[in-house]
Amino acid sequence: AAAHEDPFTAGLNPQQKEAVEYRGESLLIVAGAGSGKTSVLTRRIALLLANREAWPSQILAITFTNKAAAEMRERVRALVGNEAEGMWISTFHSACVRILRREAERFGFSQSFTIYDSADSRALLKRIIKEYEADQLGLTVGAAASKISKLKNELQDVDTYVRNINANDPQEVMFAQVFRRYTDELRRANAFDFDDLIGQTVFLFRAFPDVAALYQRRFRFILVDEYQDTNHAQYALIRELTRPVPVERVDALEDAGQHVERMRERDGSIAPASLTVVGDSDQSIYAFRGADIRNIVEFERDFPNSKVILLEQNYRSTQNILDAANAVIANNFDRQAKNLFTDVGAGDKIVGFTGYTGHDEAQFVADEVQRLHEGGTAYRDMAVFYRTNSQTRALEEIFIRAAIPYRVLGGTKFYERAEIKDAMAYLITIANPADPMALRRILNVPKRGIGAVTETTLQRYADEHETTMRDALRHADELGFGPKVRTAITSFAALLDEVSAKAQDQPVVDTLTQLLDGSGLLENLRKSPDAQDAARADNIDELVAVTREFQKNNPDGTLSDFLTEVSLVAAADELDDSSGTVSLMTLHTAKGLEYDAVFLTGVEEDLLPHRMSANEPGGPAEERRLFYVGITRAKKSLFLSLAMTRAQFGDVNVAMPSRFLQEVPEGLIEWKQSPGMANSRGGTEPRALNARRGGIGGAGGAGGSGGGYRGGGGWGGGSYDRAAAAAKTRPKTEWANRVSGQVRDNGDLELVAGDRIKHVDFGEGTVSAVTGQGAKRIAEIAFDSAGRKKLLIKIAPIEKL
Ligand code: ATP
Ligand code: MG
Repeated sequence: AAAHEDPFTAGLNPQQKEAVEYRGESLLIVAGAGSGKTSVLTRRIALLLANREAWPSQILAITFTNKAAAEMRERVRALVGNEAEGMWISTFHSACVRILRREAERFGFSQSFTIYDSADSRALLKRIIKEYEADQLGLTVGAAASKISKLKNELQDVDTYVRNINANDPQEVMFAQVFRRYTDELRRANAFDFDDLIGQTVFLFRAFPDVAALYQRRFRFILVDEYQDTNHAQYALIRELTRPVPVERVDALEDAGQHVERMRERDGSIAPASLTVVGDSDQSIYAFRGADIRNIVEFERDFPNSKVILLEQNYRSTQNILDAANAVIANNFDRQAKNLFTDVGAGDKIVGFTGYTGHDEAQFVADEVQRLHEGGTAYRDMAVFYRTNSQTRALEEIFIRAAIPYRVLGGTKFYERAEIKDAMAYLITIANPADPMALRRILNVPKRGIGAVTETTLQRYADEHETTMRDALRHADELGFGPKVRTAITSFAALLDEVSAKAQDQPVVDTLTQLLDGSGLLENLRKSPDAQDAARADNIDELVAVTREFQKNNPDGTLSDFLTEVSLVAAADELDDSSGTVSLMTLHTAKGLEYDAVFLTGVEEDLLPHRMSANEPGGPAEERRLFYVGITRAKKSLFLSLAMTRAQFGDVNVAMPSRFLQEVPEGLIEWKQSPGMANSRGGTEPRALNARRGGIGGAGGAGGSGGGYRGGGGWGGGSYDRAAAAAKTRPKTEWANRVSGQVRDNGDLELVAGDRIKHVDFGEGTVSAVTGQGAKRIAEIAFDSAGRKKLLIKIAPIEKL
């Protein structure tokens, strides 16, 4: 058939078409946001299947979230039908769990290993740090966790690490000890942490070439989306999977009765899998998790004979949105310049909004959501992004009041609720009797009189006899417990043993029900007079329903399969496109997604870029990429909003407009008037709070003098004054001009309850209370017509009457 009639390349531009049809050894597709990278991958898979170039089982496609995997599978299915079954389309983590479940026994783990999520890892570290009194040397749980994660992502094994530390540095020695112990405890618990899933699979492949060969000859095509966010361990995994299988090994496989699915080369070996990766270095936002942009930059060196295809046409957004994105990202140096263009026309201007408070901002978002909805945009085609989860509260309050259906992705998740973790711990204890973490969690849940002392005794027994804590329970008689404790332990142990004996041969839902009934967990919650407990009981019922559903979808699914599925549910997986709700999520979760209308909120210094990034090398540049990711999710409408004051950690802080805002060309944004704010200066562009802007503008934008406006922790009186002074002396950009007339410092304004004041926008009002100190003094004011507001005295445009 003529190329243009081919359903797999229909409608593609020439570069996209080439990318779908190229059949060399390795292919790198680098392109900006919305240029069809993911679409090209999907079509490529469909074409391979349709042409019978590969069986479904010979394809491994890696996506960034399980949600993206499901979507890709769905799209392939739409193109080729049921051929899509049997393909491995999954995240790195899921693919590795599948491999490890099959092969873990090779290196001393059992097939029913537990996967520790980050909360589990931290709980374990906390215990170790306490035991070693490592906190006395300044080692915190957070620091230990992220350092271990980093080492694992770099594939550093503990032995090598320990050998190379500086033995004279007590802190290093202590950390090494903690790291060693942590590793040992995981192994003893027959558990992997999240980073292990990848790292141990690489280890497995390297230590057992015959195992590696199984997968090397299986996968003929490997495709990786969002390659810019792979870390070293993931990169190494891809390297292992794309090695050729030498002839002797192919022979050995055949001798072992392993059917060799792929054609041998003329010399009897099996050629390396063909690798396709797609990515955009401007969207690399996981450096904090070890993502290494060099993986994409150095692809051509690592995979010689690779073909590189660039895509430049964007099919997602309007030109205005793209212009903004291009202009912002151009401020990152050390990048390959690329410019996205689109056919769809300029579109609407970007809408800017500055609220007085986070609530104002949320109200604006809600109003605009309603307006769009009335204009025909479905709720599900709108999304609200923020940098940190704590920003959802104001949004949620207003959305609830406005009766806007919404959904928070990645908030407190179902599986993170305490009662669900309790019930899951029962299941884990059955699946993996070696896991002390799960057992410890339920020793006294529901309360059965097993306290901390008893727990320690059991643990000590387990340590001394080199056995599991689960086994220690069976020896309660020998441990000198009182009769009550002894009975409690014995019947608890009997319940676990009884259910364990049956678990292999019955549906997961039965195992769960027996545990809930036998322990009284559910009944206790139901009997409790606490209303919260009723909700908890409902949640557990929900979990029972989940297991029932699981069994329906996986008739042969084992308990381990169920636990695997649960532990790999990622934030974005809760997304349900058909649900007709507005999606609220962090910028990190937003990667790869697209919406007609996008609200990017909290575009403020200390939030975006985040305060934490200031001290990281490359931190602000990574935050800029995050902003870029946010902008490029929008198809038609983009809203950038911020507040002048923001309540955080129980405190109200002055917020400064983000430096990124001034990187958006001015003509692209139209600043909207704030409701209730009398408009004396033609819009609500950031004003009073822009005291520091002068300094930034003068420094010429990106890479400007960080110290000046970040000094003193952001909003302390001192740094404020310094910046205000700088604003007076430096040359002004247009931006600075727009705001400098409004620099205000009411630092000395005396206010007490009962004072009458006048506000530039809100009119007259009466002070009802004054709280806080110095630069953070806040007046609560009952305005005659604008309602009650809390204002930061130092910068509020108010005067005493
Ligand atoms: P991101 O960098 O955000 O992950 P991407 O490069 O993966 O983006 P896609 O999500 O594949 O881009 O595509 C963006 C949008 O453009 C999608 O809605 C897709 O359906 C559409 N699209 C891609 N290629 C074409 C094309 N040739 N014609 C029309 N629409 C296209
Ligand atoms: Mg994509």
